[in-house]
Amino acid sequence: MRILKWIGLAFGVLIAVLLINFMRFSPDPVDRTNAALPDVDTNAVAELLSQSIQFQTISHPLGAPNRPDDYQRFLDWVTTAFPNASQAMDRTLVSGFTPIYHWSGTDPDAGAILMSGHYDVVPIAGEWSRDPWAGDIVDGYVWGRGTMDMKSGVVTLLRAVDQLAAQGFKPKHDIYIALTQDEEIGGQGGAAAVAQYMLDQGIKIDWTLDEGSFVLRDIISSVDSDIAMINLAEKGYLTVRITAKADGGHSSMPQTDNAIARLAEVISALQVNQVPGGLDGLTADTFDTLAPHMTFVEKLLFANAWLFKPVLEHVLTGAHTTNALLRTTTAPTMLQGSETENVLPQAASVVINFRLHPRDTVDTVVDHIKVHLPDDDFEIDVLRLRPASPVADKDGDTFAHLSATVQRVFDNVVIVPGMTVGGTDSSHYAALTDHSYRFLPFVATTEDVGLLHAADERISIENLGRAVQYYQLLIEGL
Ligand SMILES: [Zn+2]
Repeated sequence: MRILKWIGLAFGVLIAVLLINFMRFSPDPVDRTNAALPDVDTNAVAELLSQSIQFQTISHPLGAPNRPDDYQRFLDWVTTAFPNASQAMDRTLVSGFTPIYHWSGTDPDAGAILMSGHYDVVPIAGEWSRDPWAGDIVDGYVWGRGTMDMKSGVVTLLRAVDQLAAQGFKPKHDIYIALTQDEEIGGQGGAAAVAQYMLDQGIKIDWTLDEGSFVLRDIISSVDSDIAMINLAEKGYLTVRITAKADGGHSSMPQTDNAIARLAEVISALQVNQVPGGLDGLTADTFDTLAPHMTFVEKLLFANAWLFKPVLEHVLTGAHTTNALLRTTTAPTMLQGSETENVLPQAASVVINFRLHPRDTVDTVVDHIKVHLPDDDFEIDVLRLRPASPVADKDGDTFAHLSATVQRVFDNVVIVPGMTVGGTDSSHYAALTDHSYRFLPFVATTEDVGLLHAADERISIENLGRAVQYYQLLIEGL
């Protein structure tokens, strides 16, 4: 009986601890100011975006713009469409079609800031219900390629600067605005040139702001607010080829040693044994910030991660979207064997594309591969590598200011630090600063996110007005 008493007591203590952690795990209070928001002529902004869409600044997969005239005409249009901004800032062309605008700050001791946006777009794909290059304004939306990704970001930022410049506002910090030409194909001509220019000129950048996430709506069903995910990092990119060798020969008398069969073992082992990951670092920060807004059970589990971490990691690993936040992902994409159906291959290879979590490097991934090779008779070649970015600071003034500005402009929103799983221009800015923030101030539903790079890309006029307010308050409050 005594043992039962002890078990009962231990159980009671456990329940109490779980509940105390649960109660402590509440959202941070929101400090909303009721100050008036800047006036914005949203129809005028929609008209500007519509005009910008009509320049077919399509990044060609092979590198060179296939319509260079449209790039030049777009840049000329920027000068006339934002006359006050153009007058207030100096412009330097750092490569073919990538200008940097410099708005001089009043305080020489205040650090410089780089705001960046790309104006190239991907080619059209799929069946469009409207002309993707017309910039139609219909039913409260501007339609066309680049409306979300991301001429809208460029146009609303420049409009905010234009309005501020018209009022005679001068920023405290040096502000640089880069309009880049080739983000969609890796950013070598644009963002890489911007970074190089800054390094060559000895310009020290405190932090950068570019695309990489949105104010997400209806993305997580158990959270009933919008989620402004301000991304602090982006994953790296590593492509590896693994080759198995064998004697080959005629397929009528196959030897047991077959290169394809040996390679299949490796692929299968790497598929089953994912690169280790988990709820730590930035990934833990993301879920810790989100969980207080979730259902009772989810909140209870995250509040007591000391006990439930294995369960949480198991569940998050099970969904491909959350698994990508937890770890370096493994994606076998290309296979090669014999050229002929009746000849055994002397070599068989697989190409695997890994997306590096900030905790991993090329070495940790290659070591992981080696652990799962059945023997040493394999070759591993690194074909392409871009390390994961540094993780920007979330406890300092910059993140606080980005967040407070979101709270002023958006209703019912929770701010969450996150990670971009794809690649953006910001990867090049790691040469300038550890603090690159990735966020566009547009509400995006699951459907909207699905329209990026797809047919019927569009953005609401309401989104455009709010974004101008966001950028204007952001710059004013620096
Ligand atoms: Zn983009």
